[in-house]
Amino acid sequence: MKQKRGKRITKLHEEWPYCSYCDIKTTLDLGYIHTAVVDHVKPLSQGGDRFHTNEVLCCNKCNADKSDTKLIIWLWQRGDPDQRPPPIAQDNVMQLDLAL
Ligand SMILES: [Zn+2]
Repeated sequence: MKQKRGKRITKLHEEWPYCSYCDIKTTLDLGYIHTAVVDHVKPLSQGGDRFHTNEVLCCNKCNADKSDTKLIIWLWQRGDPDQRPPPIAQDNVMQLDLAL
């Protein structure tokens, strides 16, 4: 049995059903790794708000993986280890994150 989803996720899904992070096509059906969820780009636990400007549609998998990690750090962490910047650049990423 399909469960009715909220208005916000339904609207986002109608506009663009693809995950904002990995581009997989999401579904409104519950229980899949590609189930559509709303992610707060700046995590609520770190001062992010519930305004639409802080919300994107993403898949369950990316949402669980990102969790309450700041976006810039998560994107860097999930990158190919061979493509990571040298340590001095990593410091810059951390400083940039502190500034956001
Ligand atoms: Zn995803």
